[in-house]
Amino acid sequence: MSAARPQPPVLLVHIGQLVTPQGSEPLRGAALGKLEKVEDAAVLCVGGRIVSVGSTDAANRDPWVRQHRKELREIDCEGKLVLPGFVDSHTHPVFAAPRLTDFEKRIAGASYKEIAEAGGGIRSSIAGVREASRAELSRQVLRGFELMAAQGTTTMEAKSGYGLDVESEIKSLEAIREAGRQFPGTVVPTLLGAHVVPPEFADNREEYVRLICEEMIPQADERGLAWFVDETELIFTAAWQRNFGARLHACQFTPASLHSLLKFNLASVDHLDCVRDPDIELLAQSSTVATLLPASNHFLGLSVFPPARKLIDAGVAVAVATDYNPGTAPTPSMPFVLSLACTHLKMSPAEAIGAATLNGACALRLADRKGSLEAGKDADLAVFNAEDYRELPYWLGVDLCSMGVMNGYVWPAGEAGKRAVQDEDD
Ligand SMILES: [Zn+2]
Repeated sequence: MSAARPQPPVLLVHIGQLVTPQGSEPLRGAALGKLEKVEDAAVLCVGGRIVSVGSTDAANRDPWVRQHRKELREIDCEGKLVLPGFVDSHTHPVFAAPRLTDFEKRIAGASYKEIAEAGGGIRSSIAGVREASRAELSRQVLRGFELMAAQGTTTMEAKSGYGLDVESEIKSLEAIREAGRQFPGTVVPTLLGAHVVPPEFADNREEYVRLICEEMIPQADERGLAWFVDETELIFTAAWQRNFGARLHACQFTPASLHSLLKFNLASVDHLDCVRDPDIELLAQSSTVATLLPASNHFLGLSVFPPARKLIDAGVAVAVATDYNPGTAPTPSMPFVLSLACTHLKMSPAEAIGAATLNGACALRLADRKGSLEAGKDADLAVFNAEDYRELPYWLGVDLCSMGVMNGYVWPAGEAGKRAVQDEDD
């Protein structure tokens, strides 16, 4: 889903360094670190699509550009860096409030269990979502999308999963749809009805699974509210029958066998901190993307991170995403995740960028439209106040993104967008 409004053609010129992966296939092994680089580059976007990528000189000589110069919105990037907009393929933006008290308690040494027993943890997010109106939730979701966009993300997956009853999960998906309609980027909704078993079904898990399969999934389908379902085997069968794509949280804290699940043609398996060797081989042979979420390891203060090197070297298609959520990863920033990917996952800056763009798009089954800067793909890109792509993971905690283009829309919109580009050299 994305906002559909008319937009003037956009021509970006004098891009100091344009860096992009190529193609629509998942990047594996050595291919993950291979990026195309163009200096003094230009990108022409018409009708929400990229029409050409090349040098500024070539764009200035282009007969179509010469003929339509007056209608074009021309943006002088003044030597800045341009990348494909990030594809954040794993986020949980539907929550009512941050968990600040839990944060303080955990710093002081409280365990997950102690926090949960005091009424914190996911229970507080469930209560918050159940009590909130759809309008309140959609404002929160939109704010999350805007924070992500400010860091260079142009496509984001968005999961429900803090409502955990039929009404609240549908309300959460409606909030995602409403926020998506007010936002020029691309939003991919996922039903995560079994994030955890809600407290009222603690002694009756089967009944809750039945509710998901027989009520949540059919309602989400009939109302066109989700593209994917993120769940367990029983639930995948129900989702499969209704043509939902499937994705999975797996092996975050405890190992699980992926063997029986890969038959569902999963778009993505996410976390994989403790994935086992035989499953790495299965993943390498499958089209399933392994999405790594190092911000949650960082925020929880863990010393163990997902085994990115092992996965990449085995030929698994690896993506990275924020896991934006109020409990374990309150960050909307893909540049921060790139930094973690380099420092803790031992990925090279080029590999991290491939994982955050084209492989993220593969994880959402959108690689024919997203994830690289090539003619024919959607006009999704991000401009950074940097000269070299390696600066993105290098400068820690610095907001380098100065503007973006999402489906042909300049972001921030209007004059503010132009000013954001021009003021930065002051
Ligand atoms: Zn998650």
